[in-house]
Amino acid sequence: MADFPAAAESHGIEPEKPIRGNAVTSSALRVRFAPSPTGYLHVGGARTALFNWLLARQCGGTFILRIEDTDQSRHVAGAEQKILDDLRWLGLQWDEGPEVGGDCGPYFQSQRLDLYRQHVQRLLEEGNAYYAWDTPQELEAMRAEARKGQGPAKYRRPDPLPTIAQGLAAQQEGRAVVVRFAMPPGDIVVQDHIRGEVRVPQEELEDFVILKSDGWPTYHLACVVDDERMGITLVCRGQDHLSNTPKHVGLQRALGFRTPEYAHLPLIFNMSGSKMGKRDKHTAVHEAVTLKMRNAGWTTASVAESAGVDVETAGRWFGDKKGGRKPEFQVLEMDALRRLADAAGAVLPEIDVHDFRASGYLPEGLSNFLNLLGWSAGDDREQMTRDEAVTAFSVERIIKSNAKFDREKLLALNTQWVAAVSSDRLLAAFRDWAQVSGSAMADLDDATAARVLELCRGFRTFRDVESKAGALFVTDDRLVYDPGAVRKVLEKGEGRGYTMLAAVLPLLESADPWSAAELEARVTRFCEEQGAKLGDVAQPLRVALTGGTVSPAIFETLELAGRPRTLARVRRCLQRKGG
Ligand code: GLU
Repeated sequence: MADFPAAAESHGIEPEKPIRGNAVTSSALRVRFAPSPTGYLHVGGARTALFNWLLARQCGGTFILRIEDTDQSRHVAGAEQKILDDLRWLGLQWDEGPEVGGDCGPYFQSQRLDLYRQHVQRLLEEGNAYYAWDTPQELEAMRAEARKGQGPAKYRRPDPLPTIAQGLAAQQEGRAVVVRFAMPPGDIVVQDHIRGEVRVPQEELEDFVILKSDGWPTYHLACVVDDERMGITLVCRGQDHLSNTPKHVGLQRALGFRTPEYAHLPLIFNMSGSKMGKRDKHTAVHEAVTLKMRNAGWTTASVAESAGVDVETAGRWFGDKKGGRKPEFQVLEMDALRRLADAAGAVLPEIDVHDFRASGYLPEGLSNFLNLLGWSAGDDREQMTRDEAVTAFSVERIIKSNAKFDREKLLALNTQWVAAVSSDRLLAAFRDWAQVSGSAMADLDDATAARVLELCRGFRTFRDVESKAGALFVTDDRLVYDPGAVRKVLEKGEGRGYTMLAAVLPLLESADPWSAAELEARVTRFCEEQGAKLGDVAQPLRVALTGGTVSPAIFETLELAGRPRTLARVRRCLQRKGG
């Protein structure tokens, strides 16, 4: 390892002691999760965060959270807060980072710009970087030549290199001037904990941009400077970053930094083999919109109206199969896509941690599942507590091949966790879900919420609870009657269901106390007298109360709904008949 160049001091950059040895098992382990705030926390990112967290907890190391917000064009307002919130929901508390502080802050890269510029300046002065102001046309011409096999498929370093003075002059003239790193000669070899030796030949390494023309650093520069300044000893990140690592190692060498250890995690794919990402949401909506266009007379204007965007944007998003124009999914923001999904009746697949949270998964279930994406304990164990995972986890058992995101398995694990956690824990998780998903059950008092959970026992996710009991708690005007259920249960047999409801109403009105036992006794007696089956009364009551044919056990359901709501809904239902 090169000595730290004396020049460092002249720029106010303090040299740091290299940390050696096998970082993974050392209590001096310092790992980081470094999300870019471009949206909600993706499950792939969450898996990276989890593995880093486990490694730190295992050996008493430090887990650092760093927000990589230097790409202003991709920044999404409020995304940082959402990421912090979902990390905490998953139980991945960081030791240093936003909101908790630490000795190496600030932990937002946008607040460290001076530091990056000092390093760029040093690289420039030492001849390890140079100003460049190629126009987009010139860069395209370089690429075109490469395509024709007339030149290397990479940026061609100018010879001689422009001087600093020439660069500054170009800037003065108003050119878009960037700073490129002069990649040192030689192959770069990375020892990766998971992938073994990764060798990148010199021909494949090019001079990349480290400072953009707007004065902001690129991810590469900021990441390398921060990994050093934050004393990171192991970089554990997705394999999609493997191609960046040789660049980072090149920069580390030029800056006299130590090279941390590396572990690149396998990618996560859908069961179909496609990459799991935001695109899947667009694809799901696109399919639903295509059906609407085919069967329901939808046009681009309908897409625009539903999404709340202009017709041109809607057209670009949809594309034109006949005209050979591919859909441009990136033109539609997530909120617009969600509106469009609602209108087209599409269900957005869960991709981000927040999607799973809003769908009613337990953090225990999701986290356990993420733990098994690319790693296994080596025995048959799948359901594992966090503490068990901390003990069992090891980098050696992370696989190289792509991991498959098996939603059935996630659902099964979640069901196991629902049965395993304490009732208090389940209640707390339910409350979080009800709030995040905007369920009408968010306002229930603790006792009622606990009773709902008890009556829905055996559910897989809180969304199951919603389908079973949610309708009981929406305001009466928002109750939706399923036409199929109304026909089958109420209207069939010359309105037999309605007749039953009308007949049983006085019994309900006079029930005292309003308890499941009392209601059951009354309705059972009524059925005996009428020679009717219990179902002949129970199903019409269900439809009256929930709009459909699914609910927890009927008398418990009535007790839960309470007298005023039950009576109001039965009366309302009988009025429907008249209307
Ligand atoms: N900010 C990068 C991302 O969100 C992470 C880079 C890294 O871990 O080095 O993909």
